[in-house]
Amino acid sequence: MKKTYDVAIAGAGVAGCLIARNIAKAGYSVAVLEKCKREAMGHDWWDTVEARVFEETEVPPPPPDEIKGAFNFLLYSPLSCVNISANMPPTHLNLDRKSLAKRMIDLAEEAGADLFFNTTVLGPLMEEEMVAGVRYSRGEERGEIAAKISVDASGMDGILRSAVPEKFGFANKLRKDETILAYREIREDLTNGKGKSILVLGKYDGVQWVSRDTPGLVDINVCILASYPGGDPRKILNEIIEQEGGIGDKVVRGGKGGRIPLRNSFDSFVAPGLVIVGDAASMPNPLNGSGISSSMRAAKFASAAMTTALKAGKNDVASLWQYNVDYKLNQDCKYINLYVLQKYIFAEERIYLDKIMKSGAFEIDWDMENKLAPKDNLKKLPGFLKLIRYPRFFLRLLKTLYLSDAAGRHVKKYPKQFDADEFEKWRAGLESILRKIPFNQK
Ligand SMILES: Cc1cc2nc3c(=O)[nH]c(=O)nc-3n(C[C@H](O)[C@H](O)[C@H](O)COP(=O)(O)OP(=O)(O)OC[C@H]3O[C@@H](n4cnc5c(N)ncnc54)[C@H](O)[C@@H]3O)c2cc1C
Repeated sequence: MKKTYDVAIAGAGVAGCLIARNIAKAGYSVAVLEKCKREAMGHDWWDTVEARVFEETEVPPPPPDEIKGAFNFLLYSPLSCVNISANMPPTHLNLDRKSLAKRMIDLAEEAGADLFFNTTVLGPLMEEEMVAGVRYSRGEERGEIAAKISVDASGMDGILRSAVPEKFGFANKLRKDETILAYREIREDLTNGKGKSILVLGKYDGVQWVSRDTPGLVDINVCILASYPGGDPRKILNEIIEQEGGIGDKVVRGGKGGRIPLRNSFDSFVAPGLVIVGDAASMPNPLNGSGISSSMRAAKFASAAMTTALKAGKNDVASLWQYNVDYKLNQDCKYINLYVLQKYIFAEERIYLDKIMKSGAFEIDWDMENKLAPKDNLKKLPGFLKLIRYPRFFLRLLKTLYLSDAAGRHVKKYPKQFDADEFEKWRAGLESILRKIPFNQK
């Protein structure tokens, strides 16, 4: 391993690999350090990804054998079946994560990035408040790589972010109520596809599903908020198996858990010499935890800003700021809407959650962030009108929708250039909107 690179990246997930590909293509040297073995990369299941993100990020579209059938669920509130079908729209694809992970790694290597597996980043090399590279371990070896820009693409670990002063606009650690615990198993379907595929929203402050859409298999996923009292996703999965029936004993794929950040993305993703991206920057969809599409978009924006900064021989906050602007204006202005809804929904009384879902006031699907504009809400007016008979709840819901829209508009006013005072003012403005979300304690 060389001792100096233009860019050092912690983590070879989708975000790390895409930045590595783009930076190497632009002619700069890149090292990607990944703690896992090459063969262990990617989850042993299928994940839902926006189809258009491949074209947007210039990644070849998924080959047919990477794509699995869509999900078609019968929707449940925490209390009952709401008799609505939640079918995955053609805008989304279910992709084999092992295959996607391998393709992203190949892309980075083919572009000329150096990837080092079994290599754990221990933390940043700090020079005062600037990140000047990374420290790593590889078996018995301990070493350092000096880099003009280091990238934290280490997912939930946030190994670089957690050691850099928070004043730059992010948190070192996530709270329990900002973290989802997920556990997933794929087993044999004993019902010949005749059993139900269900999606339960809001129970255990999370999402659970049983999908029998892939012939012969049942895909069971349990996501719960880490702050849910006594919640153990594996135990809940076993209860669901018992309750649904028609599911074989043997785990065919998956059988693994993970953590997903479930908060709004940080106020800034850059510090001197540092860029944070993907799960490390809390970028998943705040309502369902999907983070591949947003991580890929962020990687595209981050690498464009990094290339400009490297060309100018700079790595300060102002030189990397365009990444913040692009992500906030293109992705976060929609996800913040979902974040406001999520904060309210998790705290609202379950009986009203049941009523919201039955009313038809929301189109609950994988593309919700694009269906929340006031004009879309107008279309759902008949659904809303059904809720008027619960006035106090109805007012809370209206307030939440107003705040969700206000938060989206505020994110669009993100400072176009770095100015410390402007940035602080913007942060305070967002904070004051979020504080007004009904039941929000934070
Ligand atoms: C059960 C489950 C189901 C999910 N389903 C979906 C879905 O259907 N759709 C979707 O879009 N998203 C889904 N997600 C979320 C999605 O996996 C992430 O949002 C996405 O992978 C984020 O990409 P990333 O590159 O930021 O991080 P990751 O993919 O997490 O990659 C981070 C990499 O960094 C490595 N790393 C960590 N620490 C270190 C260190 N100290 N040194 C070196 N390497 C390190 C890790 O080993 C990992 O390879 C799911 C997550 C889970 C857990």
